[in-house]
Amino acid sequence: MPSRLLGYRPSVILENGVVRTMDASLPVARALAIAGERIAGGVGTHETLLATPDRVDLGGRCVLPGFNDAHVHFPTWALAQRQVRLEGTTSLEETVARVASAVDEVQPGRWLRGTGWRSGDWSPATEPTRQDLDRVTGDTPTALMARDYHSLWLNTAALAHANGNLEVPGGVIERDPSGEPTGVLREECAWHFRDLYVRPSEDELVDASREGVRIAAARGVTAVHDKDGWLGALAVWQRLRDEGSLTLRVWQSLPAEKVKELAALDLRSGFGDDLVRVGYLKAFMDGTLGSQTARLLDGSGVQITSRETLAEIIRAGVEAQLPVAVHAIGDLANREALDAFEETRDLWHPRGLRQRIEHAQLLAPEDVGRFAELGVAASVQFSHAPSDRDLADRLWSGRTSGAYAYRSLRDTGALLANGSDAPIEELDPWAGVCAGVLRTVDERQPWHPEERLTLEEALQATTANPAWLARDEHRRGKLLPGFLADLVVLDRDPFQHPAEELPSVQVVATMLGGRWTHNPPPWD
Ligand SMILES: [Zn+2]
Repeated sequence: MPSRLLGYRPSVILENGVVRTMDASLPVARALAIAGERIAGGVGTHETLLATPDRVDLGGRCVLPGFNDAHVHFPTWALAQRQVRLEGTTSLEETVARVASAVDEVQPGRWLRGTGWRSGDWSPATEPTRQDLDRVTGDTPTALMARDYHSLWLNTAALAHANGNLEVPGGVIERDPSGEPTGVLREECAWHFRDLYVRPSEDELVDASREGVRIAAARGVTAVHDKDGWLGALAVWQRLRDEGSLTLRVWQSLPAEKVKELAALDLRSGFGDDLVRVGYLKAFMDGTLGSQTARLLDGSGVQITSRETLAEIIRAGVEAQLPVAVHAIGDLANREALDAFEETRDLWHPRGLRQRIEHAQLLAPEDVGRFAELGVAASVQFSHAPSDRDLADRLWSGRTSGAYAYRSLRDTGALLANGSDAPIEELDPWAGVCAGVLRTVDERQPWHPEERLTLEEALQATTANPAWLARDEHRRGKLLPGFLADLVVLDRDPFQHPAEELPSVQVVATMLGGRWTHNPPPWD
């Protein structure tokens, strides 16, 4: 090792455990030596290389590269920890009762914010209306994001803020038989309303995210690909970094609409420092499964970006040296996204841009192999498969053989990256790994078991592959000499236990760049 890694910097040896490097050349070691912020070597290197290291007894525990959540709306998730949560409600009545219980805590003049409802889970089947809310909220303006963030349920007091100006291209306003808005807005209409009237302040986002990074560290997270660039996340991260409370590395999205400004400023992908970097442009092809706005080959759904417009965004991204991450859920949305990457490939491929499709949730069989052929990554969320199974079986009946097709994608050679999509699922990479391997989160049999991944593959998608997408493959995502010491300690080696036990594996501690960010040793 180069001597600059040694000397006065603190050094530590993690020993007497199972170190999974996630690199095929030396997959397992019994110890790991860390000098300063980097890994110095595996077993046998320590006595000779490190002066007076701290020794940490792993006690048979397992060390893995730190988890990288490849798709998270971090400040939104952090803020959602403080809002009325409507996940798991099974009827409209129960949902409204939860809202009612939160009304008293809202200060006069403030909004009641909430998130997590999904009318598809309710029985009897019904769609919500503003009148349902008015009964319990009265004049308190109330805005409740659907679980998938593609529908917004408002009460009458909230709707009044818009003065009837609700129409936005790419959006949907639900109306009652008399033509009046029901209180539910979808897609661009929902986001436009939220941005104009319900947007949180930067201080609120910073406060919530400061707490959020602590929760993330406790779950083994050392890196995120954030999707909240539109919300000002880049500023939030910089404030946390400057105050010293940022304990994960950020690969940041920025809205595709800003590509001209970014190009004009020469803000290219990778600009930043070791903690916060400008990453990629974010765009949307369609809506979601839950809001029934995913764009399908049968002609249903909502188009947010056309194939031609996406191709223009990709070309503009080439000019600005910024790759594109495009949200595509339905099979038509995915096909058109792939088409746009294909027709522009001669421009972006030689520039080494690491393009990606987010979600890739429903694929026509003939499109599965195109991710690998084109070199477009599938940035997916393993947890969505078991969470969405009932809804997908109902709404995509007869087509689910191409839904959440992680094994098929992997077998064609596609690069899989795993994210939580928090706050849609909990920010918990290990839960995602379990979902990828087991395809069930309850007592039921695996959903489409033919699409299960091995533990090794699920972990690759949660460590090394997201690092590659962030152009960090030579310094993160594996536990190799010279790499950053970003790691997680698990209470046992998951490879040595049956798959059914995976959900009970616990994160013990987390380290970022040689510093413990969660639960420093000793552990008993
Ligand atoms: Zn998302």
